[in-house]
Amino acid sequence: MKKKILLIYTGGTIGMIKDTAKNTLIPFNFDELLKAVPELKNVELDLDNISIQNPIDSSNMNPENWVEIVNLIRNNYSTYDGFVILHGTDTMAFSASAISFMLENLNKAVIFTGSQIPIGVRRTDAKENLITSVDIAASGKVKEVCIFFEDQLYKGNRTVKINTEHFEAFESPNYPILAEAGVNIKYKSYLEKGTEKKLKLNTKMSNNVAVLKLFPGIRIETIKAIINSAKGVVIESYGAGNAPTNEDFLRLFENATENGKILINITQCLHGSAIEGKYETSELFRKAGVICGKDMTTEAAITKLMFLLGKDLTDIEIKSQLKENLSGEITI
Ligand code: ASP
Repeated sequence: MKKKILLIYTGGTIGMIKDTAKNTLIPFNFDELLKAVPELKNVELDLDNISIQNPIDSSNMNPENWVEIVNLIRNNYSTYDGFVILHGTDTMAFSASAISFMLENLNKAVIFTGSQIPIGVRRTDAKENLITSVDIAASGKVKEVCIFFEDQLYKGNRTVKINTEHFEAFESPNYPILAEAGVNIKYKSYLEKGTEKKLKLNTKMSNNVAVLKLFPGIRIETIKAIINSAKGVVIESYGAGNAPTNEDFLRLFENATENGKILINITQCLHGSAIEGKYETSELFRKAGVICGKDMTTEAAITKLMFLLGKDLTDIEIKSQLKENLSGEITI
């Protein structure tokens, strides 16, 4: 039987054209652009496409767009074997992370891809990314949310954008790649095995969250303002999860957690993990009741917090689930 794949267009460079008056790139009608890839017409599979209502530069992405995307997947889930989401690269790692939490018990491929150069431009990377993503989605081997970019298939919630210029725009710093596309596509053993459970949608994402990045010289007032601005805060600390050994810092974090704030500590480093209590300088977080987010990316930590705060959970349940591996986002 022919495999059926649904392309979901959300915008991004892949489908943009130049606004000659302003000399900037703007989203375009994707139907026209698909004509630029005749190779997609494949006798072995049926390919349909659909678009979110207003395709956007992914810098304009927000949780409402994520809800629109997961609803499109849910409404078409039983009809299609896999889904390819065309998305701008700027926030692709956030969207892939968020949607990995929003689609629970996923048993089909949801592959995000995009490009650094628009699809109609001669040196574009869009064709390869798009064609291979469609083949991966149709392979039957992938049953999770991934990003495919420049020959590599990454676990969606482990991925970060690392380059604005190279075709290799993404990396999965703390998790092995899931497949590599050369002459053949080689699938690795790290792929999720799938589930028989029924797909469940979580569409409530709270944006009552913030990120606090430490830097030498940061003022207590700055930290206070960020913590006061939200219920849940991701702290990007130094190295293996360290912060200054300063009584004022300790008191501030302690007061925050005692007053119902949910704080989670991850490292600013691209590779490696926050480790609770490795150095005296990370003891502060443990003493203050800050959750250790280990090797989660900022993208995964913030969207996991949005997802958990959107659910009807107690603070104790949220803190406990933050430490758990919900969708492959953390090494425990
Ligand atoms: N600004 C674009 C976007 O994220 C960049 C891209 O697609 O590569 O939508």
